[in-house]
Amino acid sequence: ATAPTAGSSGTDVRLTAISKRYGSFTAVHPLDLAIPAGSFFALLGASGCGKTTTLRMIAGLEDPTTGKVELAGKDVTALPPHKRPVNTVFQSYALFPHLDIYENVAFGLRRRGIKSVKKQVDDMLDLVQLGDFARRKPHQLSGGQQQRVAVARALINHPQVLLLDEPLGALDLKLRRQMQLELKRIQTEVGITFVHVTHDQEEAMTMADTVAVMNGGRVEQLGAPADLYETPRTTFVANFLGTSNLITADVLGTSGDDILLRAGDTKLTLPATRCTTTARTGEKLLIGIRPEKITLTHADDAGTIPDGRNRITGRIADSSFIGVSTQYVIDSPVGPGLSVYEQNIERDSRLAPGAEVVLHWNPGHSFGLDAAQSVE
Ligand code: ATP
Repeated sequence: ATAPTAGSSGTDVRLTAISKRYGSFTAVHPLDLAIPAGSFFALLGASGCGKTTTLRMIAGLEDPTTGKVELAGKDVTALPPHKRPVNTVFQSYALFPHLDIYENVAFGLRRRGIKSVKKQVDDMLDLVQLGDFARRKPHQLSGGQQQRVAVARALINHPQVLLLDEPLGALDLKLRRQMQLELKRIQTEVGITFVHVTHDQEEAMTMADTVAVMNGGRVEQLGAPADLYETPRTTFVANFLGTSNLITADVLGTSGDDILLRAGDTKLTLPATRCTTTARTGEKLLIGIRPEKITLTHADDAGTIPDGRNRITGRIADSSFIGVSTQYVIDSPVGPGLSVYEQNIERDSRLAPGAEVVLHWNPGHSFGLDAAQSVE
């Protein structure tokens, strides 16, 4: 087996001003994307955002309206799917029901007239940990096992890039979680570029090195999962990746490296480095803070809160225990319905509805967004 070679720039997939229109409807607006060789890349977004269309344009299953597709440095825009160095794994595994697992995996090699397939097929079955299942038929396997056969069947062709279109969509949640780790392991082992389409933010965050969050046919933000989570640039990204409390505040000015703000009667600060938009005095800013970054202290104990933290007073409206954490909803003059997650609290020390509390957080854990955006 020859290892695929990346394009000269180390970029396996390069999309330049690629777009797709269906009649007057634009499914994908002109899009530029460079996917580094050997990376696990996720296209993430809600149904209808254009992620599948983008993947299909890479595969050659859809003709772009404008733009260029390059794979490993070569312009493939005019090439049909089978002439491109890619394979696609779909949600419906599309295994051959009458062939056993071994023959399903061997199929691509046999079609190319390769006679001695045994070593390659055995290696591939080992890779997906199905060595003991070679002689079974697809219907004798679980959904997760069938999906692994589909991956093995695609990888045996040594594609430059493996495209995965919601491959885990048909699996139940627990199996999905297992297969996410499994696919990640396989990708690390074979080292080829995976481009994975999913609507499941946890899935994208678990598996991918880089995630492109799509919305309305555009990439809203691209980055490493932790960066997207900690520094979302739009309210859409802030809300799509987990939960964010978004507080509207007036910019009062700056002090050193901090932006000074006021929400209602409450003064808040935000390090300027945590703000992705220009904060102008007299204008508004949205301050985002994740529920798990907030600590709750009973108002009677407010004196124990260290200096330098942002604080907001409120009242517990609701609480629910979900095993790993207690989730509170808090009403405050600054914003009704703020969410706070606290872990590891003893049953007895949970705060009761009606309790007066101070919510406080390290200003460096919040982020600033342009308040002119619509809040989704
Ligand atoms: P899903 O997760 O539901 O598949 P998606 O983000 O992958 O969603 P796409 O399948 O890329 O979305 O579709 C993007 C938009 O383009 C959708 O609004 C869809 O209705 C539209 N669309 C897709 N294919 C066609 C087509 N052949 N003709 C017209 N509109 C289409």
